[in-house]
Amino acid sequence: MAEINLAETLQLVADTIVESLGFDVAVINLLDDDRQAMVVAAVTGPEELRATLLHRRQGLKGWAQLLAASEPWGRLRFLDHAKSTVDPADILSWIPDLPISDDPNAWHPEDSLFAPLEAPDGRQLGMLSVDVPRDGLRPDASTRHALEALAVTASLAIQHATLAAESRRVSARFRAVFDASPIPVGLLGADRCVVSLNDAFCRFLARPREDVVGHNPLEFTHPDDVGSGLAILHAMRSDCSDAADAAPVEKRYLLPDGSVVWARLHLAALRSPDEPDMLISQLEDITDRKRAEARLLQQAHFDTLTGLPNRANSMRRLRAALEADIEAGTLTAVFFCDVDRLKLVNDAHGHAVGDAYLQEIARRIQATVRSDDTVGRLGGDEFVVVLPAVGSPTEALGLAGRVIDAVRQPLRLGGEGFSPSVSLGIAYAAGASSTPDEMLAQADTAMYRAKTEDRGSWRVHDTAVKNSAVSQLQLRSDVAAALELEQFVLHYQPIVRLSDRKVMGYEALLRWQHPTRGLLAPAAFLDVILDSEYETPVTDWVLRQACRDAARRPRDQRRVNVNVSSIQVGRRDLPDLVLACLRDSGLEAGDLVLELTEDRLLSRPDGAELLDRLRSLGVSIAIDDFGTGYAGLQYLQRFPHINIIKLDRSFIAGLWQDEVSEHIVRGVVDIAHSCGLTMVVEGVETAEQAEFVRQLGADAAQGYYFGRPEPYAELHE
Ligand code: C2E
Ligand code: CA
Ligand code: CA
Repeated sequence: MAEINLAETLQLVADTIVESLGFDVAVINLLDDDRQAMVVAAVTGPEELRATLLHRRQGLKGWAQLLAASEPWGRLRFLDHAKSTVDPADILSWIPDLPISDDPNAWHPEDSLFAPLEAPDGRQLGMLSVDVPRDGLRPDASTRHALEALAVTASLAIQHATLAAESRRVSARFRAVFDASPIPVGLLGADRCVVSLNDAFCRFLARPREDVVGHNPLEFTHPDDVGSGLAILHAMRSDCSDAADAAPVEKRYLLPDGSVVWARLHLAALRSPDEPDMLISQLEDITDRKRAEARLLQQAHFDTLTGLPNRANSMRRLRAALEADIEAGTLTAVFFCDVDRLKLVNDAHGHAVGDAYLQEIARRIQATVRSDDTVGRLGGDEFVVVLPAVGSPTEALGLAGRVIDAVRQPLRLGGEGFSPSVSLGIAYAAGASSTPDEMLAQADTAMYRAKTEDRGSWRVHDTAVKNSAVSQLQLRSDVAAALELEQFVLHYQPIVRLSDRKVMGYEALLRWQHPTRGLLAPAAFLDVILDSEYETPVTDWVLRQACRDAARRPRDQRRVNVNVSSIQVGRRDLPDLVLACLRDSGLEAGDLVLELTEDRLLSRPDGAELLDRLRSLGVSIAIDDFGTGYAGLQYLQRFPHINIIKLDRSFIAGLWQDEVSEHIVRGVVDIAHSCGLTMVVEGVETAEQAEFVRQLGADAAQGYYFGRPEPYAELHE
């Protein structure tokens, strides 16, 4: 609130009385702070009177006597010398020198007129007195009213000044508390910028006041904690109740020198009806506690020598990586690294050098792996690397090679030269079943093999590679290269007519000449290819290659069976593909047999139409693995285009074990013949089987007894 100058205002009131109401003297007294006396605060009148009266104190007792002797004139009090029993000279500090008149209305030198100055509640504030009316008469009613009004004005001015002084005192007191508080306290405006702050706050932020006032505290907040700073502000805003102080948050502040301090931030709203809300921000400095916690955490989870995660911490990260694998379908790899010949270094140069040696190796490993990988120290000379979400085993192998190379760089310590190396074992997670301990044990075993076979190299844990999701992943990434590098080959297995044991034709069977795993049968990789983007290129290649190979054989041995994959069957352009392969190779349609499985055909509503179109090209259709599907014999009626049935080899295997197989084989042969189909029996491995199925009436047979699948070249030696 804007303050008035009380002394000036009271003087103005006194001047007005003298100038406008026809008195020569006006005096305003104020109740003293000790409330024991009145003190003259303003005087208008002759100069010498002013000089004697101003600041004079007069005890309240005298005033009480005076008032008691006076008669009320409205709100004024008049001391009539004639009626008063007190001797005014005892009380009044001056008696004017006036002529004495006989007029009953005349003003007598010992008369006095007062206006008590009071607060609305009646509290005494001061006293206004006038004297020496210029007309020598007692004032009339209008003069008295004007006097009353001026007394009210003076009272208001006094109250105003008292309140202002009080509020000044109160805020000075609070200011002192605020300033002297050892707790950083700041006041934020509606725009969330600092309006004021105490010394403790400046000290906490290590900034001069002017660098903070007018700025949003988020500017000094650690970037990672801006979110929690915003969150608490938001919590404050969304909760409108007056008592709402959001729960404190712990956050970091950045000092100008880049160091970090921690505080627990308490925010409280300072609501006011006619001003935008402010926020009181109080900080508890928890930096020491946080540092102590961090130290404890560091000791509990990190290795003191290298600062790397310790064993427990590394295993925890491995577990987390394995869990992420299950969710994201990624692959985790683990390296077990064992420093070669650390003992020699320790023995020859002392432990201090040994420690530095380990630290440098740790640093080299850390610098080589990806940022998401964890390098941990298991203890002694053992390190572990957890590699979450490796793209493929190949990528992990590449990293392992780089770790080994990085460690192997020459090293100088204390004037001595060293050639450090690590032996490294690799294990991959084998799907959901892998536990961190198992994986580490596998990597350890592989490391041991590396160490014994070729110190300073790496080895992969075997079984993990052979039968795990790993090999699938690796294969998938290898397929693209396989097509380009022509690693796919076809092997051919003869199909033999049982009546004269002559080769009727060959079945083309896909093989993968894998660079590191050798020749792979379809069981090892077909799952990976089928249902992938490589299915079409690979299976198309099979058809084309089989036709080409067949066309190069003597005319009576050209017949070739090709397995048709599910996707190929699903393709509407299969007949076009077949036609193209025939045309390009020069093979006649009559020499090509397409092997389809029951389910593949059945799953297509337009299966019959497809077979129609294939048959119209002149190729033959064989049903592969007959009897393993659920369709059975009625199937043959639905698809009259079929020429050949290949009875699944499980029936042959069962022939001597149960009679059912024998009945089925006999039944299928009969039906096949009655439908005019050629009956081929698969999986004939012995002479007895060959003879038995011949007696059952089968037309032809295929199996190891007659010949294993072989490369084209060996077929025609
Ligand atoms: P399939 O069409 O039933 O092929 C016959 C499988 O039986 C071949 O296995 C062959 O080596 C094996 N076999 C032959 N004679 C005997 C025997 O006397 N005893 C035993 N126990 N097995 C015998 P392979 O080459 O491992 O092929 C497995 C399957 O992979 C094939 O079964 C076929 O479904 C699929 N396949 C092979 N090549 C291709 C291809 O080029 N494309 C497609 N889509 N599938 C193919
Ligand atoms: Ca087949
Ligand atoms: Ca088969």
